Amino acid sequence: SKVFSPFQFDNSFVRHMEGFFEPWQGARVPAPAMVCFNQQLAEELGMDADAMEDSRLAAFFCGMLTAEGSEPVAMAYAGHQFGGFSPRLGDGRALLLGEVKDIYGRRRDLHLKGSGRTQFSRGGDGKAVLGPVLREYLMGEAMHALGIPTTRALAAVTTGEDIYRDGIKPGAVLARVASSHIRVGTFEYAAARGDHEGLRELVNYSLKRHYPELVSDEAPALALLNAVSRAQAKLVARWMGIGFIHGVMNTDNVTISGEAIDYGPCAFMDTYDARTVFSSIDHDGRYAYGNQPGIARWNLARFAEALLPLLAEDETEALAHAQSVLDGFAEVYTNEWLAVFAAKFGLKTVQDGDLELFMDFLTLLGELRLDFTQAFRALADSANSAAPGGIEALTPDSSRLAPWLARWHERLGREQTSEAVSAAQVRTLMLSVNPVYIPRNHLLQGALDSAEAGDMAAFERLLEVVCRPFEEQEGCEAYGQGAPQDFGPFRTFC
Ligand code: AMP
Ligand code: MG
Ligand code: MG
Repeated sequence: SKVFSPFQFDNSFVRHMEGFFEPWQGARVPAPAMVCFNQQLAEELGMDADAMEDSRLAAFFCGMLTAEGSEPVAMAYAGHQFGGFSPRLGDGRALLLGEVKDIYGRRRDLHLKGSGRTQFSRGGDGKAVLGPVLREYLMGEAMHALGIPTTRALAAVTTGEDIYRDGIKPGAVLARVASSHIRVGTFEYAAARGDHEGLRELVNYSLKRHYPELVSDEAPALALLNAVSRAQAKLVARWMGIGFIHGVMNTDNVTISGEAIDYGPCAFMDTYDARTVFSSIDHDGRYAYGNQPGIARWNLARFAEALLPLLAEDETEALAHAQSVLDGFAEVYTNEWLAVFAAKFGLKTVQDGDLELFMDFLTLLGELRLDFTQAFRALADSANSAAPGGIEALTPDSSRLAPWLARWHERLGREQTSEAVSAAQVRTLMLSVNPVYIPRNHLLQGALDSAEAGDMAAFERLLEVVCRPFEEQEGCEAYGQGAPQDFGPFRTFC
């Protein structure tokens, strides 16, 4: 039959990074069927209408049919998982199908998760099941809509297989799109093998792909370390701004691009508490909400260690370079955090005393047990006395908010702009950065349970709502509410 050619592949990783992958093929599955397809993203990737209607698409997205130009590979990487090092992890159930230049000229990876065993599978079955595949689909799309750099979801297919996971579950594969899948763990893989030449090539390739302005820097490895440090500081600050908890910030899940990747046991916080943890395997709260910036720095230290042989000829000098980047991380991160939160508070500048003002608000949220998302959204209405509602309406203890609200209003009055910013403008700014809708744990869980039982309606509706997070949508009040009392403590599983 006709050649199957849904994308114009151009596979630079395979061309340039020999040694960092194994050519591989997705497993045959009995009955590939599309359950979700992101047409808008497909168009962005240059897919035409004919390809979108091709009946072979489901087989392609589960990895069993190779398209023209695709060179599927399992990528090699190492990683620190919950603090412990594994020199060889790699794509144990995933495949890089290749790279596509999108309609804006951006190079993007097309990648599958759940496509079967590979040389990196160790004891695993190489499979994924529908619930977690749809969870990652929705999380990626919601994060994108929230303005966070992230992998995107292109398609979810069921395979027709029964998969054993604490009961029998429907098998599925996720097709996702990222600016690349190069991770801190990719560098650790080369470093652990003592492969300095590979490491050098990886630095060069990463710079070309993600930080082209730094390619001719006289100290390329140090330039990359700095750039990744900034990108990760920015990313984690944005997570903090929306109450997102990644759940598995292992170094194999930390990208060089600064995109969020690998939505496993991640979840959004309801009631504000910096100690919040959802993952069933994170017993010590290593990856709790409030620990994420510290863990980001810890992961960068592992990155710096991997790069050490390239940071300087002399080891003492290399260590000093690494240390100076790590020492600078706190300040870089704090500035990113301040920028994110200033906007949430309706401020266009950051001034002395803002850090304390912002932190005091978060402390109050914790003491009053307020919902993080709702509190910021309602605070926008407190900016403008002409608007109804306001954060005071969220708690019977609203008098406890009064002194802080007075400080905030005083601070709003000190914005430096030549023409004074009106209360209505402050409110508008706040509504544009503080979402009404995040993927609520109880709603997402309910939608995934229904999907696994064969009914996609709740999932599709939720996806629609969270993809327009800043606009109040008619009849969607329930989507903006926290979990009901009887939902109980929430746990996520990988
Ligand atoms: P993750 O926690 O999804 O980031 O995965 C960590 C490592 O475990 C990666 O090397 C994965 O490829 C591997 N892995 C996770 N689940 C499976 C599975 N079902 N089969 C094989 N490998 C897996
Ligand atoms: Mg991973
Ligand atoms: Mg994963």
